[in-house]
Amino acid sequence: MVVADAIVIGLGAMGSAAAYQLARRGAKVVGIDRFAPPHEHGSSHGDTRITRQAIGEGECYVPLALRAHEIWREIEAATGEELLVQCGGLVLSGARSSHPKKAAFLDRTIAAAERYGIQHEVLSAEEVGARYPQFILEGDERAYFEPGAGFVYPERCIAAQLRLAAQAGAAIRTGEIVTAITPSGTGVRVETDRGVYEAGRAILAAGAWSPGLAGTPLGHMAIHRQVLNWFEAEDPAQYAPERFPVFIWMHGSAAEQSYGFPIPPGSSGLKVASEIYERTLSAPDDIDRNVAEAETALTYDKHVRSHLRGVTGRCLRAKTCLYTLSPDSRFVIDAHPGNDRLTIVSACSGHGFKHSAAIGEAVAEQALEGRSGLDLSAFCVPELSGSA
Ligand SMILES: Cc1cc2nc3c(=O)[nH]c(=O)nc-3n(C[C@H](O)[C@H](O)[C@H](O)COP(=O)(O)OP(=O)(O)OC[C@H]3O[C@@H](n4cnc5c(N)ncnc54)[C@H](O)[C@@H]3O)c2cc1C
Repeated sequence: MVVADAIVIGLGAMGSAAAYQLARRGAKVVGIDRFAPPHEHGSSHGDTRITRQAIGEGECYVPLALRAHEIWREIEAATGEELLVQCGGLVLSGARSSHPKKAAFLDRTIAAAERYGIQHEVLSAEEVGARYPQFILEGDERAYFEPGAGFVYPERCIAAQLRLAAQAGAAIRTGEIVTAITPSGTGVRVETDRGVYEAGRAILAAGAWSPGLAGTPLGHMAIHRQVLNWFEAEDPAQYAPERFPVFIWMHGSAAEQSYGFPIPPGSSGLKVASEIYERTLSAPDDIDRNVAEAETALTYDKHVRSHLRGVTGRCLRAKTCLYTLSPDSRFVIDAHPGNDRLTIVSACSGHGFKHSAAIGEAVAEQALEGRSGLDLSAFCVPELSGSA
């Protein structure tokens, strides 16, 4: 049996960050993953993830985003890898986008920027069109522009943090499946298909697989299949990060929302997607990885054809990905009710990556020092902690 200070279960966005932050603080860490991250089976692939600092999902996320940006830059300095591209980001809302939840997102983003002093501009459709002629606008849109927003490269972030964790002494075990997590006399016992581990603390960061491993505490999470499409740009230079921002666009009369990215150097195709909730999976492994032509055509017709200039319907690539969604999209970062030495980190709901570096740091601090620099109490689930 291997004995450690901390075991990290799942080494994707959250787990790689936690393993790195634990190891750099001198803890004896074992990190275990059923695949070999970065990989394409979970929630953290597809080249790019939007990052913003003023977070419309809730002001409790802003300190996480701000700290994460600092950590990405620290990791860039340590590794020489480019991880964060601050090409600017737009949140666009059409006047006809009357869905109350969506309309409020723009206002909450502006309020968060004002509250935290985050540099931003509120733009009219005319101003957006003058700056970014790539957008086909109706003329009644309002937009929030944040120059410090942009994207991170998720696969690079995970690989860099796992490399740094290993350099700091962490044992990174890939291709090993955790099968059971139980309390032990002094902490947590983790069984895998290859062995048994014990540690004073464990962090469960298994993404879409966490509900299956944690049991009842994550019973409220739903797993949804998502699709990413890369469409051909007639002139890719028009969509380079120097000329085009990341965007979240609420448009149409229903709850339509798309998001998209510039084309990073060395890549091809403009990545555009929307959030899809029609297909709920009973388990992550049930996902159909095949993307039907009709699905891609629907995305093109709804979100690209009459929205972005010079982008053809030719799809260069399409991939599926997993959302693990709580009913109010809020993260769960809390102790397991059956074992206070096991921390559950379930931070997907489609907006977790940008915060992952800071979440990893905060849970590492909590595990080793009993408290963290960032306040995670907003992500405790009353049903879990018994404080309802
Ligand atoms: C299509 C899509 C678009 C998104 N866009 C954005 C965005 O623009 N901005 C943003 O901030 N966020 C975005 N997100 C959300 C973000 O990507 C997720 O919040 C984040 O990647 C979740 O990371 P995770 O560590 O929880 O899961 P993962 O990265 O999936 O990691 C879980 C790991 O656990 C491992 N594992 C599972 N079971 C076991 C087991 N039994 N034993 C050992 N290991 C196991 C898996 O192999 C995996 O490596 C998006 C998500 C998707 C799917």
